Amino acid sequence: MPAPGVPSGIRGPPGSDILYGAWRLDAVTSTVFPAPSGHTRNPWLREALAAERSPGPMPGLAGDTTVDVAVIGGGYTGLWTAYRLTEHDPSLRVAVFEQDICGGGPSGRNGGFVNAWWDEIATLVELFGDDGALACARAVAASVHDIGDWCERHGVDAHYRRAGMLLVSTTPHHDGRWVSDVRTAERLGHPDAYRALTVEEVAARCRSPRFRGGAHMADGATVHPAHLVRGLRRVCLERGVAIHEGTRVTRLRDRSGPTVRLTAVSDAGTAEVRAGHVVMAMNAWTAGWSPFRSSLLAWGSYMVRTEPAPDLIASELGWTGGESIIDARFSVHYLHVTRDGRIAIGAGGGTPGFGGRIGRSFTDDRASAARAGDGLRWLFPALDEVAITDAWGGPIDISPDHLPRFGTLPGGRVHFGFGYSGNGVAPSHLAGRILAGLVLGTDDRWTRLPLVGRRTRRFPPEPFRVLGARVLRAAMVRREDAEEAGRRPSRLVRELSRMPRRLGYRLGPSD
Ligand SMILES: Cc1cc2nc3c(=O)[nH]c(=O)nc-3n(C[C@H](O)[C@H](O)[C@H](O)COP(=O)(O)OP(=O)(O)OC[C@H]3O[C@@H](n4cnc5c(N)ncnc54)[C@H](O)[C@@H]3O)c2cc1C
Repeated sequence: MPAPGVPSGIRGPPGSDILYGAWRLDAVTSTVFPAPSGHTRNPWLREALAAERSPGPMPGLAGDTTVDVAVIGGGYTGLWTAYRLTEHDPSLRVAVFEQDICGGGPSGRNGGFVNAWWDEIATLVELFGDDGALACARAVAASVHDIGDWCERHGVDAHYRRAGMLLVSTTPHHDGRWVSDVRTAERLGHPDAYRALTVEEVAARCRSPRFRGGAHMADGATVHPAHLVRGLRRVCLERGVAIHEGTRVTRLRDRSGPTVRLTAVSDAGTAEVRAGHVVMAMNAWTAGWSPFRSSLLAWGSYMVRTEPAPDLIASELGWTGGESIIDARFSVHYLHVTRDGRIAIGAGGGTPGFGGRIGRSFTDDRASAARAGDGLRWLFPALDEVAITDAWGGPIDISPDHLPRFGTLPGGRVHFGFGYSGNGVAPSHLAGRILAGLVLGTDDRWTRLPLVGRRTRRFPPEPFRVLGARVLRAAMVRREDAEEAGRRPSRLVRELSRMPRRLGYRLGPSD
């Protein structure tokens, strides 16, 4: 029986969302500025699939089934959770349902930044106090390290490299944006976790005519994102996790009964899954599900990648230490050098999806991909001759305070984790521990983190959500573009860019 007041069924978005090019592998295109890869696979995933010896796509669910735990989503969050569950109890029947292939979503297409949260520590203190903030920051820092150790232990060559992350200012308006986080880390007893750098110290790590001062976060690494997610898939399969690819879950029912019933749709037809527990690990797609529509915004994020140019990167930029770099914009540029000497760079921009729909604007938006390419040219004019060979995009899940949220729906059997806001590689490793703990009912240092069971501000209903988000985000980008170009943004643009903070969201510039 459903508990009083608990709606029994929850639904996903209507079936019009796109998949990421199911099963198609296309040849690498090499043009001066390529269109985003849209429905074809992005280059990280192409490389990982080409190198793979593990089985090809796992067949979709062909008939009704019963499992102990059903995990919806075959990205990092879902696979880390499945992995932790098998670690706790190898006899558990765990099944992962993935509408595409594992890693077909952002876990196989992100920027490869594996970051701790020392650069968010002041916000964490505001939200959770000193102890809560420290617990979160230490847990994510541990994940940065653990991912590397895990790769080594399981023979997953995900190009893991731990060289820290640089935050750089590219305009006087952004100078010192790191100061409160640096001071807070120091006050909390972690002076080396996040250290301010002078202009010269930044230049010693990477030369750009745009870079000013900055800060260095020691707990930062980079990975080849698709090798990591496909490695996780391989290890989960070896541990007996049932993975059903090409299988979309469209509905959950009886979430307060002894088993939750899931409707799963694949090429093989529609089937019913009965599960003792369900883990919703759907990232931006969560925004389309009824209990979470006002809890997050699905937004597009785009990247480009250059041809290999290791010698030029070394001689012109002196960028040989392996640090990842972000600038201090809210519509951030994030970049790192890959093992084969390419620069991969992404840029905030993109557009929101109406009502949580993930449509073509998340993969085919040329203008947003061009922003990432323009960012590269602007930051490193010395690399003008280096060709951009790939462009792609994907959805990110923006939460009202830019931090993830974990919990369990009334009824106690459906658990969720989302809201990484485009910074999920390290936190999704932590999510695996949290979500496995919620399923198993353990009370430990992960399930006690203040990220679990918290409430956040809600976004307004549609159409105000998408319209407001578009207008305010456009204002932020215009303001930051103007500031970088040395122009003063109009008063209207400045006021609009500050509006999210005034409305109580931790999004956008605060000054
Ligand atoms: C372009 C880009 C760059 C990024 N760069 C970085 C970065 O450098 N560092 C960083 O930390 N983060 C980055 N991110 C964010 C990061 O990729 C995510 O936070 C992380 O991958 C989240 O993992 P996940 O498993 O929760 O989500 P996903 O990888 O999105 O996995 C969710 C899966 O659920 C599946 N799914 C959804 N609905 C259903 C359904 N109904 N039934 C079955 N399956 C379903 C989807 O197909 C998807 O594969 C970036 C994201 C993008 C798009």
